Amino acid sequence: MKKHNFSAGPCILPQEVMKKASEAVAELDGMGLSLIEISHRSKAFVGIMEQARELALELLGLKNKGYEALFLQGGASLEFLMVPYNLLENKAGYINTGTWSDKAIKEAKLFGTVVEIASSKDKNYNYIPKGFSVPNDLDYLHLTSNNTIFGTQFKSFPETKLPMVADMSSDIFSRDIDHSQFDLIYAGAQKNMGPAGTTLVVVKKEILGNVSRKIPSMMDYQVHLSKDSMFNTPSVFAVYVSMLTLQWLKELGGVSAIEEINEKKAKLLYSEIDLNPLFEGYAAKADRSLMNATFNLKEPKLKETFDKMWQEAGINGLAGHRSVGGYRASMYNALSLESVGVLVDVMSDLERKA
Ligand code: PMP
Repeated sequence: MKKHNFSAGPCILPQEVMKKASEAVAELDGMGLSLIEISHRSKAFVGIMEQARELALELLGLKNKGYEALFLQGGASLEFLMVPYNLLENKAGYINTGTWSDKAIKEAKLFGTVVEIASSKDKNYNYIPKGFSVPNDLDYLHLTSNNTIFGTQFKSFPETKLPMVADMSSDIFSRDIDHSQFDLIYAGAQKNMGPAGTTLVVVKKEILGNVSRKIPSMMDYQVHLSKDSMFNTPSVFAVYVSMLTLQWLKELGGVSAIEEINEKKAKLLYSEIDLNPLFEGYAAKADRSLMNATFNLKEPKLKETFDKMWQEAGINGLAGHRSVGGYRASMYNALSLESVGVLVDVMSDLERKA
């Protein structure tokens, strides 16, 4: 039986994408060759890369608006340093909403002055800071739109004239927001796009080329852009699967269609967390993530029973991150409403039994 996969990433992908991907590993489009044995310079793969880049811009509503999409390697973690390498001349502002922002800040400090504009560290990152002001003498402002570990998500974004950079690794393509408020967006593939191994970077070209330092080729967004995201051998399998997932999303009706489903899933689970007296949510209600719901059992002695029950129900990947504890249900785009229903049934069964 296929598990109800609530894993935080790598995570569930659409079943039809998995099927097409496995077929392409055997043979790509009747070519008599596998996807992973053809040249990345072949017509077939160049077409795949072009389509993946086009679809990414189209689904984010950023086509013909001065943006380009790249599929790079090194994970979102490499973007923590590529962003300052390319954009930080003097001073940058970072909003610290969790482990991943913290890691981004650490890397940026290697390149210049970092101002922590706001932080939710005082409450172990269970909320999104609000009401802060953003100085206007910064090279850019960086934030993490969704905090995978703590289960918080920005519902609106700071208004600033500065270039704004967002790490959207765990909520890209999940909700219909105005992406043009950002000048650079990056996201590791392994949540809403594909397997680990590629990172989507969407960048407004005009913000590049303004720093005085020398940038090594592999770290330079302009080099990757000039080579159409093929400066070196890309992660062909991860790019192909990402392209398939983006096609799947487009056919489903795009980001606004998936947002509706994501909202239904989140509502179903958060209602159970709030109504069931055995559970409590971790994140502040106003800041709850549509993607990662973090919650705890009020009585730790029920842990063994609950763990056994959800495992027997075919649920996978519910353990919370070690820095939060409790549980984390990740409800990425490919997770069905039905799977969330199975979890909610287990939670209410526990209430009946306890
Ligand atoms: N940012 C966020 C929000 C993440 O959730 C993750 C990984 N889960 C990362 C960055 C790091 O990504 P990677 O492992 O691809 O470097």
